Order: sequence, then structure tokens, then C-alpha cells
Amino acid sequence: MNVQKQAAWIGMDLGGTNIKFGLVLANGTIHLQKKLDSEIPFGYKYVFDKIAGYTRELIHAAGSDFVVKGFGIGVPGLIDIKNQMLVEASNFPGWKNVKIGYELEKRLDFKVSVDNDANLAALGEYKFGAGRGVTEMLMVTLGSGVGSGLILNGAIYHGSRSAAGEFGHTIIQKDGPLCACGRRGCVEAFVGKYGIQRRIKELLVDYPRSILREIEPHNITPEDIYNAAVKGDKTALLLFQEVGESLGVGLGNVANLLNLERVVIGGGISNAGELIFKPARETLAQIAFKTNFETITLVPAHLGENAGLVGSACLAMQISEKF
Ligand SMILES: [Zn+2]
Repeated sequence: MNVQKQAAWIGMDLGGTNIKFGLVLANGTIHLQKKLDSEIPFGYKYVFDKIAGYTRELIHAAGSDFVVKGFGIGVPGLIDIKNQMLVEASNFPGWKNVKIGYELEKRLDFKVSVDNDANLAALGEYKFGAGRGVTEMLMVTLGSGVGSGLILNGAIYHGSRSAAGEFGHTIIQKDGPLCACGRRGCVEAFVGKYGIQRRIKELLVDYPRSILREIEPHNITPEDIYNAAVKGDKTALLLFQEVGESLGVGLGNVANLLNLERVVIGGGISNAGELIFKPARETLAQIAFKTNFETITLVPAHLGENAGLVGSACLAMQISEKF
């Protein structure tokens, strides 16, 4: 019997701590997913040799059922798209001007496509997640940092030197709280994990009866605040109200600039759901012009922590379609 082989693309999310990868089919489903330590401090030659080994194992495991048509990889740093090169990444010490595409193609028999991980998470949600059906979209990932990727006219928007899409570092309060980037008043300084931890400490001074007082202030996590909010803790509810409002200010500005159709919100902090989304929408309504507000919908992400992996494979799919 002649069995038809299914087309598949390798998607890889290379993070500072883990490598997540797997085979992604044309309908966006993931097969043979794996998660391993990335071991970035050992240097790029070591890591790429290891990746090449994993890839060969993956293809072997896929056996005769699949035909692998391409390889896409996302990296959390500034990528020179034209040269498929990682310029620099704060979580990748010593990795400067690394030609990821060239280095991996040297080791593998595939065309390798590289982009920034947040851009690829946006591409994944756009193709197979919460962004389906629109062409103008922003994806925002609320975690320790605030990552974002912009889809305009159905494609990742890179800007002139691949540095576009930094929603987390747009400033919503001049001379506001310090951000990890060294500037003040960025969206991330209000809605990222560290911004939230800073603000809850301030609020607890004014609200001594909060149940969050039972936790050492330095150890309070966004999850603790969510658990307190669910129990009706006023301080925790106020915190999420403020986070949503700050997010709404930033998104209102973006809506007025770009007349987006959709904002997809992911990352651990977005698990607070409507506690953040509702005030964000209300603030957006105040800031965005009527048409811009009417056009935009703010929705939770669908692909969870696999958005980057799926998006990497989507990039490879797009490239393989061109040949
Ligand atoms: Zn910043």
C-alpha cells in the first residue's frame, strides 16, 4: 500500500532556559514535542551542534509518516532579518552577531528561517490561534517582561532594521517607574511581573488589611495576587484594575496609530483574564477614537506557551511556499 506522507515543518523556540521544538503540520497541530535545556552559556557552536543532533533524532522519530519541508527558529533578541543573524540578546551572554541561519544550515539539510520569538508567537496566534480571521493584529505577552509582535497586512512588521513591535517599551508616563530597559514609565514597568511586584508593595502600605500581608512582600507573585483577588481582596482587585488601565492606555495609543483589528494577550499574568481585560477595554474606549475602538477586539491567546513553537514552523511554511 502506498501511504501518502504528510508535510511537516520543524518549529523551534530557543529560549534562555529551554529549547522547545516539535513537528508542526499544515493545520497547526504539533507532533513529537520536546522540551530540553538550552545551555546557552556553553556558546553557540555547542548549542547548534546539539540542535542539529535533536533535529536528526526528531526526523528519525517521525519515520516514514512525514516529509519535513523546513525549519523555523525563534530567538529572544534583536534579529537582523536580512542576514538571519542574532545581533544581541540580553539572555544570551556572549552571543553577538551570530549568523543563526547560516550556522544551522551548515549542520542540516534544510532552509532555516530565523526571527524574534515574540514576532513568531504573534505569527503563530495569527495563523492558528486567537488572531485567525484578521489581518491587523498585535500580540502582547505579559510575563517577567512584556513581549510583543505586530502583524500588519497579514505579515510580521519588522520596521527598517527589524527592531519594531516593542509595545512593552512604549512610554505611558514620562518620568514614571524605572523599567528593566533603563527608561522610565514603559508599559512593562506597570504591567510586567516586576512592575506588579513593585506596585503591590506600595499598595500594601496603604491597605494593611489585605490578605497579601501574610506573604513576605518580596515573595508576592502575580499568582498570589490573583488568588487574593478571587477571594475578593480589595487590594488585589485594585492592583489588577490598575494593570488593566495601564495596558489600556498603551493599547489605546497603538489603536489610534494603527487602527488594529485585534489584540491577543498571552503570558502567565494574562491568566487573570477579565480582571485585567475589562479595565483595559474601558480605558481603551476612553483613549482610542471611536472608529479605532469599534474596530478592535481584545482577546486571550489560544496557543499558550506553544505560540512561539507553532509560529516558528509558520515562518518555515511561508518560506517553503516561496520555493
Ligand atoms: Zn522599558
